[in-house]
Amino acid sequence: MVTFNLDNLVRENIKALTPYSSARDEFKGEARIFLDANENSFGSPLTKWYNRYPDPLQWELKKKIASIKSVKPENILLGNGSDECIDLLIRAFCEPQLDNIVICPPTYGMYEVYANINNVPLKRVPLTPNYQLDLEALSESVDERTKLIFLCSPNNPTANSLLREDVEMILNNFDGLVVIDEAYINFSRQRSFIPDLQDYPNLVIMQTFSKAWGLAALRLGMTIASPEIIDILNKIKPPYNINQATQELAMKALDNLDDVNAMIKEIVAERELLTKELQELSLVEKVYPSDANFVLAKVSDALSIYNFLKDHGIIVRNRSNVILCEGCLRITIGTPPENKELLAKLKQYSDGVA
Ligand SMILES: *Cc1c(COP(=O)(O)O)cnc(C)c1O
Repeated sequence: MVTFNLDNLVRENIKALTPYSSARDEFKGEARIFLDANENSFGSPLTKWYNRYPDPLQWELKKKIASIKSVKPENILLGNGSDECIDLLIRAFCEPQLDNIVICPPTYGMYEVYANINNVPLKRVPLTPNYQLDLEALSESVDERTKLIFLCSPNNPTANSLLREDVEMILNNFDGLVVIDEAYINFSRQRSFIPDLQDYPNLVIMQTFSKAWGLAALRLGMTIASPEIIDILNKIKPPYNINQATQELAMKALDNLDDVNAMIKEIVAERELLTKELQELSLVEKVYPSDANFVLAKVSDALSIYNFLKDHGIIVRNRSNVILCEGCLRITIGTPPENKELLAKLKQYSDGVA
């Protein structure tokens, strides 16, 4: 068992940082007249309360999310999309040019982008050909300056979940933070790692409202981890990173959990149908098993099929230039009529080529 010491992981300047103290931080009680934040006391052209700065720590919203996720509000940091969560983790723990992060391509591109923006060296340990973790290569690549390992499960763009025992192996043997991006967890056969937070102080989970919740436009992502890790991230986040409109709309959305679960069910059913029907097309060599709301399909000529679909108004993601995804298209699950149209166009393509 490794020794985990959060204090050793945080950058020195972040440890020493005095966070910005907003007017709302300094006065938290009830009052009749607020003249402390230079807001417009007369109101706003929209809903009346939009003249006021929002709650910097979004307690009301986090309480609601916490009860759904069976964690405490203190376990949650909300970000302007998970993308902000990724950036905050790298900035809190990685000294530019000195500390490094590890990613396992093919995977979500934003880990690399934020490492680059922050001038943090990146080590790439590719997945195995069946899209699982290469544990041996991972243990060789980790060094004493590795602060974060980013794992994505279900993984984008390969659509599969990582093996639970492999992830546990890393959690047990790495003394930096293991970040599991669960953006697609609601579509997965596997359960979330959230209940494992009690066992692993080095576990960090990211989820988002952009996929299953259907709220990509609101920009709301979350980091779920120990209160100690969340406190560090709270210290460096922009004070009002989640705007009032997003907080209100997300509160409303959370009252409609049943609707969301119904959509998830439909998407999963449609995913199984689309997988089966794609497999029957001659131009499809393989559809990889999916735990997400998209499928990865290896096709005869990815670029030409991509262009053909595009010319007919259907956009998919060409992933054929990505490592281990040669010849692959990533296709988001659409509505039943959208999927039918996609299949019809693919048939039309095969007929034209034949
Ligand atoms: C789509 C996606 C996200 C979501 O990012 P947001 O900034 O919350 O919209 C995060 N991680 C992965 C792997 C994704 O595919």
